[in-house]
Amino acid sequence: MNPLDDLYQQVILDHAKRPRNHGPLAVPPAVHSSGVNPSCGDEIEVWAEFSPDDRLSRIHFAGQGCAISQAAASVMTARCTGLSREDARARIAEFSEILTGTSEPDLFALGEVAAFAGVRRFPQRVKCAMLAWRALEKLLAS
Ligand code: ZN
Repeated sequence: MNPLDDLYQQVILDHAKRPRNHGPLAVPPAVHSSGVNPSCGDEIEVWAEFSPDDRLSRIHFAGQGCAISQAAASVMTARCTGLSREDARARIAEFSEILTGTSEPDLFALGEVAAFAGVRRFPQRVKCAMLAWRALEKLLAS
């Protein structure tokens, strides 16, 4: 069984193979958070730097696991860089809604994150997709 929606498979595989913003941030202001998904073996670490006005100026991740977990992390970094903490939390909620909601996601408004709507049909994979986003949420709360 292929858990990836055919229509969006390319987006997810592209991010899984060529992750954006990958690798630890070594500079001092980085904040570190991590999450593990035991049912799948996915591991994600997320680093972030904040600008003087408390925006997410850089977000990086590293980890290993299934394509969905790694692609969702890559998309998360692209989707949340530059945002205030409040806006980032809204994007995390929005992504959760894409994974578990019932309304059809708006491709034009959501862009690449809409590719993860196919994960709805595989509830056990929702955790994979949310892993990096929950790590960022934890980081924002710290
Ligand atoms: Zn997984």
